[in-house]
Amino acid sequence: MSLPEYEVLALKYAWRPARRADLFIGGDPHDAPATMDYYLWVIRGAGRLFVVDTGFNQDMAVKRGRTLLRTPVEALNLAGVDPLAVGQVIITHFHNDHVGAFDSFPNAVFHVQDDEMAFATGRYMRYERFAKPYEPDHVCGLVRLVYANKVVFHDGDEVIAPGLSVHRIGGHTMGMQAVRVNTKRGWVVLASDASHYYEHFETGRGFPLVFHVGDLIEGYGKLKQLASSPRHVVPGHDPLVMDRYPPASAPLQGIAVRLDAEPIA
Ligand SMILES: [Zn+2]
Repeated sequence: MSLPEYEVLALKYAWRPARRADLFIGGDPHDAPATMDYYLWVIRGAGRLFVVDTGFNQDMAVKRGRTLLRTPVEALNLAGVDPLAVGQVIITHFHNDHVGAFDSFPNAVFHVQDDEMAFATGRYMRYERFAKPYEPDHVCGLVRLVYANKVVFHDGDEVIAPGLSVHRIGGHTMGMQAVRVNTKRGWVVLASDASHYYEHFETGRGFPLVFHVGDLIEGYGKLKQLASSPRHVVPGHDPLVMDRYPPASAPLQGIAVRLDAEPIA
């Protein structure tokens, strides 16, 4: 039996200005203004529906100086997804920009790595360097979901559905996981923050916010190995994603792109 081929969307919901020097360990010799985009992702097909990460809401945008273009719920609605109908959410890691809107999915179970739960509730959160991107309220909310039996734990590489699997990469955080999904163009890998920008995995450089540099750099090889080609690896925050893939529809230009379609640039 052949594997289902899923539709995969990247939904842009927020952005912030940055400088290239801040995007790479050791800075960048060609410092220049840059942009960081914020995404969540939708995987659907074969009667299944998954949301990958939840994004954040206006509270985090204000607190952390991001520009919210639309709430994650609004972005999902534009793509024809009712958050109340979402039964499965995959959380790549617990940073605020990836779990901030977890409570918008009251009917979902949440797929997480053992190591991410341990990291977000463990000894390293005593240090601002590691704790800053996390929000205690989000982490506590996820802990409550554990007690409600709404968290599905994964240890490393696990298949969630036919043609869909999660893979612990580590590096950026202890339990950072990527998502591998079968599509009509082959295996697409949602790297999330295992590679913030294309340049990170393409040039072997690292984003400065990192738990384990060795795992981060090793992870690039794993991402490429999991994907049908490097053109199937989708970074977590790169504005180029919106340029390289076709819009999901004409009205969704600049908001949602089809990652299961061949890149157009
Ligand atoms: Zn992120």
